[in-house]
Parts: sequence; structure tokens; C-alpha cells
Amino acid sequence: MWAAARPRWIAYALACELVAVVATVAALAGGFGGAVRPVWFAVLVALGVAQAEMSRRIERLRRWMSGQTHINVTSVWYLAGVVLLPPAWVALLAVVLYTHLWVRVWRQVRTRPAHRFVASTAWAMLSCFAASSVLAVTGLHGSPVQTPRGLFALCLAAAVFELVNVGLVAAGIYLYTSQRSAADLIGTWEDNAFELATLCLGGLAALALVAQPVLVVFVVAPLLLLHRYLLLKQQLQVAAVTDEKTGLLNTAGWHESAVREHARALRRGSTGGFAVLMIDLDHFKRINDTYGHLTGDDVLAAVAVAISGSVRQGDTVGRFGGEEFVVLLPGIGRADVLGIAERVRVAVGELTVVISTGGGTVRVSGLSVSIGVARHPDAGPTLDDVLRSADAALYRAKEAGRNRVAV
Ligand code: GH3
Ligand code: MG
Ligand code: MG
Repeated sequence: MWAAARPRWIAYALACELVAVVATVAALAGGFGGAVRPVWFAVLVALGVAQAEMSRRIERLRRWMSGQTHINVTSVWYLAGVVLLPPAWVALLAVVLYTHLWVRVWRQVRTRPAHRFVASTAWAMLSCFAASSVLAVTGLHGSPVQTPRGLFALCLAAAVFELVNVGLVAAGIYLYTSQRSAADLIGTWEDNAFELATLCLGGLAALALVAQPVLVVFVVAPLLLLHRYLLLKQQLQVAAVTDEKTGLLNTAGWHESAVREHARALRRGSTGGFAVLMIDLDHFKRINDTYGHLTGDDVLAAVAVAISGSVRQGDTVGRFGGEEFVVLLPGIGRADVLGIAERVRVAVGELTVVISTGGGTVRVSGLSVSIGVARHPDAGPTLDDVLRSADAALYRAKEAGRNRVAV
């Protein structure tokens, strides 16, 4: 944590963790909230653990795919806890379920380091406390949930839980990364719609547990399905912008990033130049004719790795179909563009692709690329101007004999 997080995030996270621990210990010591019903606690822990176990694979895939997930499906059990348990026991429920998730899922995912997991746990505990306290303060805690008064209390608790959690997490993300867009901080509309669906199931689970505990089984199946849908949605989002053959961005994905970079460059004015490299393999048809299309595909994948390896981490590399690649270099001066294009050209030239086929090993080398370079704003004010200019430069590089860079 000391190495990875900023001091302001560390201060915020430690403060939240301290408050969560002190509040829990104080409430447990003071007997705040009336008689403890250990059976409900045990039932909710069992349900939460069982649900997490059944969807372990989904959760692990989700965590691998994106570092920032706003939605934790286990929150469904906290709302039931808020209705059935004294506040400190709901906080304990969050600790138990988060710890279980950590041990079984998140520990294996590098994008979720321990300090962020501990902070997430504290935020969940505080959200549970807030929701419980609303019931305690309004005198609604313990009122039968089947009555209008009880249902109102349930909705109020759900709303407070959600608002407090979104607020705490948004502040955490902001302090961690300085993200400013609403989607980064509080999630997309769809994320929040999903969270609402989770809370609805939480409300139903609470009602079921009070009225007829066996009915809670009917909540688990929709919950597992919702969870699977979350993963599918994420996979579709990635697939929509990814080129299957190389793993680079596809045309749509690259264009989306380029539009964003163009807008950023316009905001920054004269200091915010970006450049585009349009890269086309020379005489690639010969590779296909000599070795076949499948080997050609392997060569394309190797060239993609070589190109990505010759540019910086923040540069955007895409494949424009066929054997044409495109790179966007943000915040780059006129003087440096040619050097980078040259580095890409040399890297492809030095490449030896070793491919094992049914009939033995094939070594493909002697590849070359022609590269057209254009820079914003030199080539024109719009993104289209820059792309057209890079394309024209590529054409000139081909005309001039290939295996070269043209501006
Ligand atoms: P040059 O660009 O130097 O003019 O010659 P070229 O042979 O590369 O010519 P051109 O760009 O016109 O042809 C592209 C060839 O790339 C045609 C096709 O055989 C091959 N190609 C395009 N897409 C793929 C692909 O996805 N996989 C494989 N294996 N080959 C592809
Ligand atoms: Mg070509
Ligand atoms: Mg081509």
C-alpha cells in the first residue's frame, strides 16, 4: 500500500477502516441493537458463502477482466442482515463474506491488491452501519417487514446502503486515481441498474427469511443468473473492441480511443500534439502464398507483438483489418515521431517468427513494413485529416520502394 497508493488515499482508507473497527467493537461491547439472534447470522453467512462458492468461476473471470468493478453481488445478503441483525452483526457479516471472497477469489487476482480489498470491506461495513442506524434512529428496526411501515423501513435502508456505498467507493476511486468521469466514479447507468436489481433481491430475501425461510431458495437462482449476465456483458464489451487474431484493438475500438485522444488534444491546445502511424506489411500476399493463410495469421500475431513492444505503454495500437496496423502516439513532439516509426520498422525487420505446423517447424523472417506518419495538428484539425494524411504517406512509402517511413 505504501508503494502503490497516494498518501491522500491511504489517509482516507485508514480513517474509514478505523471508524469501521471502532464502531463495530463499540457496538458489540455496548450491546447496541438488542438481542443477538445468532441463528440469523449463521443462516446469512451460510447463504452468502454458498452463493459465492457457486459463482466462484464467474467472479474470478470478472476480476481478471477488469480492475475496477463497482458491483459486489454478495451485497444482497447485507440488506437481509440489516433487517434481521443488530448493526454490529451486519458489519461482522460483511467482514466474514468479504474475507471468504478474498480467500477464494480475489487473492489470486493481481488487479485487486490487499489494501484495496481491506478498504472495500471497511466501506461495506460502514454502509451496513448507515443502513442499520437509519432503522434504529427512526425506530423502525424490528418492525415487522410485512407491514407498510416495515416495507418503508426496508426501502429506506436499501437506499441509504446504496447511497453511502456509492459515495464511499467513488471518493476512494477519485483519491486513488484522480478519475473524474461519472462512469469511472459511480459506475454506468447499467451498473447502477444492476445494483438496484441486487438490492431488490436482497429485500425479497429479507422478507422471505422473516416470513418463511425456505423461500430464500427462490432468490439464489436469479442471483446466480444475474451474476452470469454481468460477466457476459463484460465479455461482450471487450469483444466489441478487440481484434480476435492479434488481441489488439479492432477498428471500432481504436477509433473510440482516437476520438478521445483527439478531444484531449483540442483541450490542451498547441501543447497537445498526437501522431498516427499507419503500418502495412510489405508483400504479405507472398507469405500467404508460400506458407498458407494459417501461418500468415501467426505472422500477423507476431508482428502485432513486435509493434506493441516498440511503443510506449500508453500508446494505442490497433489492427485495421488485413495486414494493416495503426498506432496512436499521444502527447508527442514532431521531433520524436520519426524515431518511434523507425523503431517499429526495425523491430518488424528483425523479427523471426517460429511456427510449428503439422509438418515441422517453419521460420519466417525478412519481413518488412511501410509506415505512413501524420501528426495533429500539423496534418489538419480533425482526426480524419490526420488519418487521411497518414494513409497518403503510407501510399508514398510503398511507391518509393517499401520498407521505409514517410511523413
Ligand atoms: P504491399 O502491401 O506491399 O503492396 O503488398 P501486399 O501483398 O501486402 O498487398 P496487399 O496489402 O494488397 O494485400 C494484403 C494481403 O494480405 C492480401 C491477403 O492475402 C493478406 N491478408 C489480409 N488479411 C489477412 C488475414 O487476416 N490473414 C492472412 N493470413 N492474410 C491476410
Ligand atoms: Mg501489404
Ligand atoms: Mg494492405
